[in-house]
Amino acid sequence: MIPLKLTRLTKRYHGVAVVDGLDLELEAGRCHGLLGPNGAGKTTTLRLSLGLIEADGGAVELMGLPLPAQAAAARRRVGVVPQADSLDPDFTVRENLLTYGRYFGLTGREIAARIPALLAFAGLESKADSPISALSGGMKRRLTLARALVNDPELVFLDEPTTGLDPQARHLIWQGLRRLISQGKTLLLTTHFMDEAERLCDVISILDQGRVIVRGSPRELIAAHIEPHVVEVFGDALAEWTRCASAYCRRCEQAGETLFCYTDAPEAVVAELEQRPGLRYLHRPANLEDVFLKLTGRDLRD
Ligand code: ADP
Repeated sequence: MIPLKLTRLTKRYHGVAVVDGLDLELEAGRCHGLLGPNGAGKTTTLRLSLGLIEADGGAVELMGLPLPAQAAAARRRVGVVPQADSLDPDFTVRENLLTYGRYFGLTGREIAARIPALLAFAGLESKADSPISALSGGMKRRLTLARALVNDPELVFLDEPTTGLDPQARHLIWQGLRRLISQGKTLLLTTHFMDEAERLCDVISILDQGRVIVRGSPRELIAAHIEPHVVEVFGDALAEWTRCASAYCRRCEQAGETLFCYTDAPEAVVAELEQRPGLRYLHRPANLEDVFLKLTGRDLRD
């Protein structure tokens, strides 16, 4: 079964297609990333996929069921981690899980039986009876993630699950997501953190202007679109280096005060830069962010 299949999906606002004939098919048991600059249509795509808004054209099949006709039945098999925490501040951690489980028609006894595992997953066993106000940002995110699992979903949607978290808290969320992947769940994740997408996702779709512009594993996308090495160069003597850099690297791109040099042979570039005291540089392997910026541009979108 295909957990989510979007076919020529279209959504217009004020006559403008913000999702524009989009095709997307998720493979079960994989972590899928949906990346794109602000306004690319990611959130609208997630909302269409869940049947929260209606499409103007095309088709959505969620858990093998057509939307919107069978949205309620399909959503019972899906978990959602929204962008902003929507925990009930008047309830404790345990009560939040109980109330949420009731939306899925689970009995109090059924939910109570699941709560220990959910608390353990979130690392919140000692906080079960604490009010939400006593939790840190990272704990709230972990609880929101655990809450999305209350109905034992096969597919989990995650809208920027680690935005606003410190590195320690992000690593804990990543551990949780890896555990879900190893349990065979399908994940669909939006994120602005390319390192997060590169770490977690098996398949990435980059969206721009409501369409999927490329799809592949992080490694495939990097190999297909970027030279393997990047040397970032900055410093007072940059203008002089910029004039001759093309002799040492395949492709150069200036962004602000930095020149990005893309190359197969970094040794020559680095050797040359070592001779230039007015410059500093960072040599690193090409990554998903390089692909993203090459394909969607460096201009701000909002
Ligand atoms: P992303 O999540 O990739 O940042 P969105 O899906 O939120 O993009 O938005 C895509 C475009 O659709 C944006 O230009 C946004 O302003 C517009 N948009 C989204 N929701 C609405 C709405 N309810 N009414 C009007 N325009 C909307």
